Amino acid sequence: MKTIVTDSAEEAARFIREGGTVAFPTETVYGLGADVFDEFAISKIFAAKQRPADNPLIAHVGDVSQISQLADSIPERAKAFIDRFFPGPLTLVVPKSVDVPPIATAGLDTIGVRMPAGEITRAFLKASGTPVVAPSANVSGRPSPTDWESVLEDLEGKIDCILKGEPSRVGLESTVVDCTDEIPVVLRPGAVSIEQLREIVPETLPFAESDGTPARSPGMRHKHYSPKARVILIDPADVRSASAGRNDLAFIGLGQPPENASVTMIVDSTEEYARELFGFFRLCDRKGIGTILCETVPEEGIGTALMDRLRRAAE
Ligand code: AMP
Ligand code: MG
Repeated sequence: MKTIVTDSAEEAARFIREGGTVAFPTETVYGLGADVFDEFAISKIFAAKQRPADNPLIAHVGDVSQISQLADSIPERAKAFIDRFFPGPLTLVVPKSVDVPPIATAGLDTIGVRMPAGEITRAFLKASGTPVVAPSANVSGRPSPTDWESVLEDLEGKIDCILKGEPSRVGLESTVVDCTDEIPVVLRPGAVSIEQLREIVPETLPFAESDGTPARSPGMRHKHYSPKARVILIDPADVRSASAGRNDLAFIGLGQPPENASVTMIVDSTEEYARELFGFFRLCDRKGIGTILCETVPEEGIGTALMDRLRRAAE
């Protein structure tokens, strides 16, 4: 299969309308999309990514009015989050419409819905004329792609089209909030923090404090976000001792890198750390790095999501 790379939202949308697969930019990470109502097109996403069939996809809309095509009902608390955070890096899990094929949601009776921000992304979704289901546009298990070149690295020849846009502004996958029960539960932390969610619905719980079971969010069982290198998390104060005697070492963090690190990235903020992390993992893989030292950050704001991804990468 030849993968067309284009900067035309209209050309990319034509592939969606014709039952193809299209990687497209969003503010979180690049997604790999297909028409939510086309089972065969969706099966091509799972094949290209080698994604386990029990991992549900997120449906992306270009307009709030499209949510009614996906959801059986929209709970009041979901409406409040929509009013405040759409378009943005937030996915809401709501009861699924019977019209959505089971393959899109891994057989769940719920569906994750998101309206991404960004001009080219919105233009693409509008021109597609249908909600677009999309996981991240990487081979399963690899770091999510935050620029179109990373998509090409993983999926060239396996998908129909890549819509070229800017590098993703956030760099980590969306916050996922289950809105099917009385009390909203954060299934996956992201750029919309629990502090922000609680300004809208004060009862909102982090997954750890809910009575949630892995069955409620199958995606959380799968290993994610990992480079080939070993990832070690270190407290900023311990960088020197952790690095003694190691070869082919890399470092990312806010502080000073160890002297023997051959690939380093010093970031100015937690936001920049989040934006650069997955691209840095990929760079380290290309350079054959054996061990990546990642500085830990305080767990507040996007720091919660960043620490979640760092821990999964270090598992
Ligand atoms: P990805 O797009 O690869 O980041 O994966 C999407 C993730 O969203 C899944 O792995 C789940 O964690 C979550 N998700 C999507 N839909 C649902 C749903 N209906 N119920 C629970 N979690 C979901
Ligand atoms: Mg993914």
